[in-house]
Amino acid sequence: MPAINPTVEASHYSRDGSGGYVCGLCPHRCAIQPGGFGRCGSRKGEETMLTAYSYGRVSSIAVDPIEKKPLYHYYPKSKIFSVGGIGCNLSCKNCQNYSISMSSAGKKRTTYESPEEIAALCRMERLDSMAFTYNEPVIWLEYIMDVAACDRDLRYVMVSNGMAEEEPLKELCRVSDAMNIDVKGFTEKFYKDICGGRLEDVLRSAEVVRGQGVHLELTYLVIPGYNDSEAEIGEFCHWVRDALSDDTPVHFARFHPDFEMTQVPMTPVDTLLRCRETAAECGLEYAYVGNVLTDDGSDTYCPECGGLVIRRTGYTVDLVALDGRRCAYCKHRLNIVR
Ligand code: SF4
Repeated sequence: MPAINPTVEASHYSRDGSGGYVCGLCPHRCAIQPGGFGRCGSRKGEETMLTAYSYGRVSSIAVDPIEKKPLYHYYPKSKIFSVGGIGCNLSCKNCQNYSISMSSAGKKRTTYESPEEIAALCRMERLDSMAFTYNEPVIWLEYIMDVAACDRDLRYVMVSNGMAEEEPLKELCRVSDAMNIDVKGFTEKFYKDICGGRLEDVLRSAEVVRGQGVHLELTYLVIPGYNDSEAEIGEFCHWVRDALSDDTPVHFARFHPDFEMTQVPMTPVDTLLRCRETAAECGLEYAYVGNVLTDDGSDTYCPECGGLVIRRTGYTVDLVALDGRRCAYCKHRLNIVR
């Protein structure tokens, strides 16, 4: 018999005084009437409360290389149990997971997996870490917190768009060991026109995550003609250096035409390599190109002695010269968790 989705009250909401609710999970702060959904499809108004409608509704499960998240500095060369739900609180025109992220509540086929079941599935794969990925984890907060409460010895990774209010984000950080946050462009116009969000909210989230001591990496998907100017990339790199740290790993990922942006060509490899150069000139210690094979664009070099520490060819990873968390050549402490 198929499992029945439980009705779970949402966290982080208030009542609007006229029978409706205001969701406080992310900066959209949707006003939701009984019978209605929030913009992300994960909150539903009932007569007596706001519910976490997508609780436990799992759309995708896979075992992935950790490098696919992408996380290059967190247990490199390991595998991670990856789980996704439905819905998203952004509406990116270039979304590469739109079949699940744009699925309005109830439209996409999902199976209900209780927190105990999903933790047990991860253990059955003999894995000790789980990623909430493929769609936005912040809108799955209640479920993630319950999964983490079931198995406190697993490590948890979030792949997020950073659209979260500070309080729920800090709650998520309490169970998160690592996070990759997308910075999708570096102008408010880009966020407004392409994503339906605000850059300043995402930047604040990245700063909160770093402040909470969670290992943080960033992904910047480089879209030709939209967010790839030298000036914009330079401003992004300066922000990473000044607001976060110069040892924050940054991934410049190749855009593939998808969803509502099929008219835009793939990012030229030269553009990605130029972004990486800009990052290096700005003083960022670890900048990578992603979604494409290059000679050395995905390799890690020691920022102290310049020696090759990790070689990556696609998802083939060679730990060339790692001594624990240090460079094996010069013993410099690297921003690598393992
Ligand atoms: S989490 Fe969803 S329902 Fe809540 S404010 Fe954001 S988009 Fe709206």
